[in-house]
This record gives sequence, structure tokens and C-alpha cells, in this order.
Amino acid sequence: MTGGPALRLRGVRKNFGEHAALDGVSLDVQEGEVVVVIGPSGSGKSTLIRCVHQLDTIDAGAIYLDGELLGYEQHRGGLRALGARRVAAQRSRMSMVFQQFNLIPHFTVLRNITEAPVRVHGRPRAEAEAEGMELLERVGLADRAHHYPRQLSGGQQQRVAIARAVATKPRITLFDEPTSALDPELVDDVLAVMRGLAEEGMTMIVVTHEMAFAREVADRCVFMESGRIVESGPPAELFTTPSSPRLRSFLARHH
Ligand code: ADP
Ligand code: MG
Repeated sequence: MTGGPALRLRGVRKNFGEHAALDGVSLDVQEGEVVVVIGPSGSGKSTLIRCVHQLDTIDAGAIYLDGELLGYEQHRGGLRALGARRVAAQRSRMSMVFQQFNLIPHFTVLRNITEAPVRVHGRPRAEAEAEGMELLERVGLADRAHHYPRQLSGGQQQRVAIARAVATKPRITLFDEPTSALDPELVDDVLAVMRGLAEEGMTMIVVTHEMAFAREVADRCVFMESGRIVESGPPAELFTTPSSPRLRSFLARHH
């Protein structure tokens, strides 16, 4: 370990045409920290974590994972983009959980979980399967190991997606509105799995509108608007004494 933050963003900018989706975002995430990102639709929350996961390239600023610059290297006094293999290697140290689960439909539940550990990380299949079964046990779906995603409810699929995300032992796991596509009665089981991971010390960034989850689980909560971090702090402070009127009106709408 470097002793520095697990993840560091410095002045990150992302433009779509003339529009700045990220307008100079700086953020540190410490090892074991849970950072919850809130903010209105279009404020740049997804873009933020997509840039961290290198699904989008940034236009200015820098992102470091364990002190290592992501996506670029020093070259002749400047920076040049890393090749696809190096980017893939950096990406393999993080995981992302999407709103729409994104499980592979023609793989069983267990195979969905073991695929990255085996193919990307070179783990022996038997080991990956044993660990995959333990993970399924933890998310309450051991009996579904040999089912296919379509045979599961949305909430079950999302719990499989979370098991898949953590199967590679990522340095940080990024969640983009993981419960937004679920029927209300399925949300709590997914949040419970995430709470368990947080309690075990997993480093996470969670974009969510679940304010109760943010309040209980976040070490720090970040409020974004128009591509900027407007306010950030421990949830007890942010929710009880928001300093910006924007955050106050946002909280009034999302109690
Ligand atoms: P959020 O997740 O907070 O709702 P997003 O990060 O998805 O916000 O979007 C931030 C802004 O960037 C929005 O104005 C959105 O329309 C724009 N945007 C996001 N992705 C793209 C894209 N691929 N092409 C063009 N504009 C985009
Ligand atoms: Mg989004």
C-alpha cells in the first residue's frame, strides 16, 4: 500500500461536445471508505464513475488508483494514452455494478461470477467456483448457482451482479444506481448485501437515491450538480445542515 488514498481524482473534466459533464472534479476515496454520490439527474454522477472505470476517457485532470495514474503514462515530457492491454489491466483492479445488472444471459449464475476470476485473473476454475459458491451463499442465492439470469428476479440478478463484482477482489467497487431498476419490494435485499460489504471494509463509491442507505452506510456523502461537487461531508452533517440551497431543495424532494 502507498499510504495515500485508494482513489484520487484531481480536476477531472469530461466534455460531451460543448457540454461539461464533469467540470473539474476532485475527490479522494480512502481505503475502506464508502462514498455515496447524490445529485439530480444529469449532474454527472454516472460520468464520474464511468471515467474512474475508464469506460469514458477524460479531457483534463487525472485519476489515480493506489497512486498510479489511470489511462496515461509519461512520454517525452508529456502524457500519452495507454494501450488497450494496459487499460484493461488497470480496469481489472476495479469493479462496477450497473443499474441494469448486465449479466451474461447464456451463462449460468455461477459462470457469470467465475468468468472474470478465471479469464482475466488466471485463477484455477475449481478455486474460483468454490469462492463463487461462498459468495452466492453470502448473497442468499446458493440454490440458484446453476440457473440462468432470466430465471431470477431483478433483485436476485443484481445480487449475482454484486457477487460477480467482488469475486475479483477489486480495490474499489463502483455502484451506479444499483437499485433504481428494481421493484420496491426487491430493493432492501440488495441494499443489505451492499451494507454487509461496507461493514467488511470494502472501498466503494455508490451513486444512489436511497437516502436512508446514504445516511446509515456512507462514511462521506458527495452532492453533485452540473458536473461539480457542490458539497461533501459526513451524511449526518450533510443531511441535517446542508449549506447550499441546491442541496436543501434536493433533500426536500428526496427524503
Ligand atoms: P447522472 O448520472 O448524474 O444522471 P450523467 O453522468 O449520465 O448524469 O450525465 C451528465 C451529463 O452528461 C448530462 O447532461 C448528460 O446528458 C450528458 N451525457 C452523458 N453521457 C453522454 C453521452 N454519451 N453523450 C452526450 N452527452 C452525455
Ligand atoms: Mg446516472
